[in-house]
Amino acid sequence: SIPLGFFAGIGGASKKGILIKGSNYLEALNAVKYIIFDKTGTLTKGVFNVTSINPVDDMTKDQLLEYAAHAEAYSNHPIALSVCRAYGKNIDVQHIRDYQEIPGHGIQVTVDNRRILAGNAKLMKKEQISFKEPNVIGTVLYIAIDHVFSGYIVISDEVKEDSAKAIRTLKALGIKKTMLLTGDSKEVAAAVGSKLGLDEVYAELLPDQKVEKLEQLDGQKAAKEKLVFVGDGINDTPVLARADIGIAMGGLGSDAAIEAADIVLMTDEPSKIAIAIKMAKRTRNIVW
Ligand code: ADP
Ligand code: MG
Repeated sequence: SIPLGFFAGIGGASKKGILIKGSNYLEALNAVKYIIFDKTGTLTKGVFNVTSINPVDDMTKDQLLEYAAHAEAYSNHPIALSVCRAYGKNIDVQHIRDYQEIPGHGIQVTVDNRRILAGNAKLMKKEQISFKEPNVIGTVLYIAIDHVFSGYIVISDEVKEDSAKAIRTLKALGIKKTMLLTGDSKEVAAAVGSKLGLDEVYAELLPDQKVEKLEQLDGQKAAKEKLVFVGDGINDTPVLARADIGIAMGGLGSDAAIEAADIVLMTDEPSKIAIAIKMAKRTRNIVW
């Protein structure tokens, strides 16, 4: 049977917007030593702003943005939402055929009988498009039309105001390592890592590689130490499911993430993790 104190613990947490799916997770929070964060939508706002549009040759900025927005029309990725918002006009989906989203890479789609690729450098390399990587800070969306590089759009996301406090309070609670796993570029990952004081940063990982990395980190720790993964569920649901404790963002996060997670943060604030750990410690003191 479950000691009564656990119900008080879970109830108290839910009043603070922290949904804990079972008393076992509340107990497990006491042994957390390693916390791995996803970047986009988890430590950053997941709301990108287009900061520059750079077409090649005779194409205009408006034309490049128009192709990018049509390519991204069916995607829920934060990058896609920002490009469509910057475009601002309604998209007539009759122009769009053969849409395919390639996780960790981007989009492949036909728009008005032209084959569009919109995604990161990894996508361009995979498709053998010749292009140059610009020296900019921000996430770069490269666009190729009929297999010819046509330009790039730079977008940038901001770190959540709450994230720095989250990392600081977790350190104060005795967490041994805070880490970042991301599909984004090394430059963007390093900038977020140093801004927040994360101990380790792993970038340019595909969804499968995120699981592999988590398993490797899991294998390095003592058996009784717990490993947490915190994500928003866009391209990281398998990692959420695989961690000792998976914590999902409940606001911006996807339904799949909320389903796969053990704990859901309704307010999307990573600092709620430290609050949950404190509540777990208090609950243990009452129960045992
Ligand atoms: P993160 O770890 O930052 O949450 P994701 O796994 O969601 O990253 O995405 C990794 C990278 O894959 C993105 O930074 C982006 O370059 C590319 N990508 C993924 N989905 C899209 C998309 N819909 N459009 C363009 N690029 C995308
Ligand atoms: Mg993500």
